[in-house]
Amino acid sequence: MSDVFLNGSLTIAGLGPGDTAMMTPEVNAAIAQASDVVGYNSYVARIPPREGLRLHASDNRVELDRARHALQLASDGGHVVVVSSGDPGVFAMASAVFEALESAPEYLDVEISVLPGITAMLAAAARAGAPLGHDFCAINLSDNLKPWELIERRLQLAIEGDFAVALYNPRSASRPQQFARALEILRAGCGPDRLITFARAVTTPDERIVTVPLSEAKADMADMRTVVIVGNSATRRVGRYVYTPRSAP
Ligand code: SAH
Repeated sequence: MSDVFLNGSLTIAGLGPGDTAMMTPEVNAAIAQASDVVGYNSYVARIPPREGLRLHASDNRVELDRARHALQLASDGGHVVVVSSGDPGVFAMASAVFEALESAPEYLDVEISVLPGITAMLAAAARAGAPLGHDFCAINLSDNLKPWELIERRLQLAIEGDFAVALYNPRSASRPQQFARALEILRAGCGPDRLITFARAVTTPDERIVTVPLSEAKADMADMRTVVIVGNSATRRVGRYVYTPRSAP
């Protein structure tokens, strides 16, 4: 098959939360060797242009289309890097590529590698202290790809399990009520004193990190550039830091 001999490759890379210092050396090396970079506009904008590098930035929110395009470029012989912010396996392009591959097995010969990046919750937790120091989970609050009822149920079960919880995509202009509802569920299940951290645009010049008790949390403290970290029942402050002890409460 011609694609095999063309030796293209597809690398799915995480760019980290924003600061270039948080990109891994292997991601930088993959971008330096790429013929094509594919991704959502604002992520591709983080790649410095150079001769011989084609940038395929799209506003297209249909991730499967972008994934298929990347597979096609690689099977034509390109060294294609699909970029995501944070880690590409966390609510991002890696799953989309494998889903596209499943429905287009003609691309199974394309060599695919996934290069991890620092995901938003880990960058945010590090800035705050160590709120994810004990068991935790991550929930994407967007109901684009799953029903809201399932999101509520998972949030409820995370509270019952006394997990610290990182909430991605907490609030967008098109669904402002849902984060307010999530806060109601959290207050009912965790009480007013539970610590909640709003970490916005972590590691960028717009970074803002605020920790308050749930009683003071307001829905408009979050937007789409914010990851929210809800502590477990033992999460506490020490000086200006927030941490969760490593032992069970
Ligand atoms: N793959 C990404 C997540 C993509 S979903 C990752 O691993 O980080 C997009 C969501 O990630 C945003 O709505 C926000 O909740 C979070 N996010 C991404 N970058 C962020 C940053 N620099 N600061 C705070 N939250 C961020």
